[in-house]
Amino acid sequence: MTTIEGNLLGVRTRITQACARAGRDATDVKLLAVSKTFAPAAVTEALAAGQHAFGENYIQEGVEKILSLRASHPAAALEWHCIGPVQSNKTRLVAGHFDWVQSVDRLKIAQRLSEQRPVEMPPLQVCLQVNVDGGPTKSGVAPAELPALAMAVAALPRLTLRGLMCIPEPADTFEAEQAVFLQAKALFDDLKARGLALDTLSMGMSDDLDAAVAAGSTMVRVGRAIFGSRAPRA
Ligand SMILES: *Cc1c(COP(=O)(O)O)cnc(C)c1O
Repeated sequence: MTTIEGNLLGVRTRITQACARAGRDATDVKLLAVSKTFAPAAVTEALAAGQHAFGENYIQEGVEKILSLRASHPAAALEWHCIGPVQSNKTRLVAGHFDWVQSVDRLKIAQRLSEQRPVEMPPLQVCLQVNVDGGPTKSGVAPAELPALAMAVAALPRLTLRGLMCIPEPADTFEAEQAVFLQAKALFDDLKARGLALDTLSMGMSDDLDAAVAAGSTMVRVGRAIFGSRAPRA
């Protein structure tokens, strides 16, 4: 067994156990493998171990990886998620290559993505990034502004709004992690109560996925626990 294969098994076991503790069905939580900074070969290895959804933070790097893997795996059901900040000058690349974008936090960016999504591609699947714990330097829409943004994004023709994504500050205890994730869950439920058909609450990473699953996450985004530690970005 390769290291990545073994790590993937370990992460899937963690998800299954966290679901069991929370009385949830393990099939309710999707695993997104965050392959940022790792070479296409690492993605190929994870693919061979049954992993199909991958997340990238840096758009240029992500697009290069998408193109290289689509060339060698033309028929593979690879699903690519953009999970990093999207500036206006990068929306065309995101709209033209990714299947999902989870880091939308402004209407202007969403409008550009909708306008630029090629007609021959299915609608771009979107999560809104919400700044649940109010971290001052972080991206994400403020909770108070979320409902208006969600309604406006849901109305854009070439996007499908799927849910929310959040990246809380690291916390010291399971309870503290879970408390922030429960706030995100409440925002998610509130949007659904307003009539939006959402199915994705993307939260939880290598260090805090157990608390995220306990709070209702439907997608965990895991990098280091699958691919190993990342070299600092040059
Ligand atoms: C890097 C990253 C992850 C994965 O983090 P790990 O700690 O490596 O599991 C998840 N989500 C986002 C938005 C990231 O940037």
